[in-house]
Amino acid sequence: MAYKVTLIPGDGIGTEIAEATRRVLDATGVEFEWDVQQAGAGVVKQEGTPLPDRVIESIRRNKVAIKGPITTPVGSGFRSVNVALRKELDLYANLRPCRTYKGVQSRYENVDLVVVRENTEDLYSGIEFDHDTDEERQIASEIERLSGSRIPDHSSVAIKFISVGGSERIARFAFEYAHRNGRRKVSAVHKANIMKYADGLFLECCRSVAGDYPEIEFNDVIVDNMMMQLVQKPELYDVLVCPNLYGDIVSDLCAGLVGGLGIAPGANIGAEVALFEPIHGSAPKYTGQNKANPMAMMFSGVMMLRHLGEMEAAERLDRAMAEIIAEGREVTYDLLPIDQRDRALGTSQVADAIIRRLRA
Ligand code: NAD
Repeated sequence: MAYKVTLIPGDGIGTEIAEATRRVLDATGVEFEWDVQQAGAGVVKQEGTPLPDRVIESIRRNKVAIKGPITTPVGSGFRSVNVALRKELDLYANLRPCRTYKGVQSRYENVDLVVVRENTEDLYSGIEFDHDTDEERQIASEIERLSGSRIPDHSSVAIKFISVGGSERIARFAFEYAHRNGRRKVSAVHKANIMKYADGLFLECCRSVAGDYPEIEFNDVIVDNMMMQLVQKPELYDVLVCPNLYGDIVSDLCAGLVGGLGIAPGANIGAEVALFEPIHGSAPKYTGQNKANPMAMMFSGVMMLRHLGEMEAAERLDRAMAEIIAEGREVTYDLLPIDQRDRALGTSQVADAIIRRLRA
């Protein structure tokens, strides 16, 4: 039976890379029934919002979605569609595999890391008080009353919170991912030496969940030390589980280790639904030029195939793309040295090349 999947093409380069991705996923032989849902700037005029309810309903119904990037207009009053989707669907785990592919220019070889970032808590939860407001003054005086610490006048305040429930579920997600995908080690990233309660709780929860997975090695590393170690010896690490803020920074560092945005996939996963999407944005300057690299969204499609249990198709598609990247003949501009970019293929021609390889 065909898998029903919500496909959100997005805007900017999203339309082109989503079409290329749909074609290669169909060419794996796995049957999909695509429920195409437009969202983003293009639907605002007609529907009054970049994220109509029908999009959320479709994802809830199908439980699996793949999405192209969506532009976040600056200063329009609309919230980010991406943040809204994460909140509405409680997509608490952001999963970003970072692996070096032969043929991609990178300073490193043999990097194979997976960053599991908590997506809903921490400093990024959006609880902030602007300086010189009544609310901030009340918060500051309450904090002084309760803790004895004085916040300087004219301060803005952001609240960091980390919960037992949030920490346990992200830790369990990381260990389950490691277990199902044959990974050997999970490392918790924190700053519990300084933030003894908040990060201390995160670490305590990770340690406690680690006890349920004796076959997987567990260690913990302070975030600043982890950044240095990742730059010096990334091969020491495997799955990294991080609270929200550190996860954001660590995952971009890891994307940099493996050669950048054009091939970096991601997923946002909740208890009920999973949403797969490339890490990069809508690159508006390349819209409609058949120029953008579709591989980051295609690798997100590989993650989706694995999530659906279609391991063989996932491996085949992954291998076909890895071969094409390694050969370097049928790739977009961003995977070529600057002096060779005039021989780059377009977005849809890269899809054609991958489909030929899948059928060979
Ligand atoms: P971006 O990732 O869109 O582009 C940065 C640069 O990276 C581009 O100019 C281009 O040179 C390169 N690039 C990105 N994707 C590429 C691809 N597939 N192939 C080849 N080159 C590629 O980041 P930005 O310019 O900061 O953001 C543009 C818009 O995208 C913003 O509105 C932002 O809010 C949005 N955005 C959306 C998402 C999402 O939907 N998940 C994520 C990030 C940014």
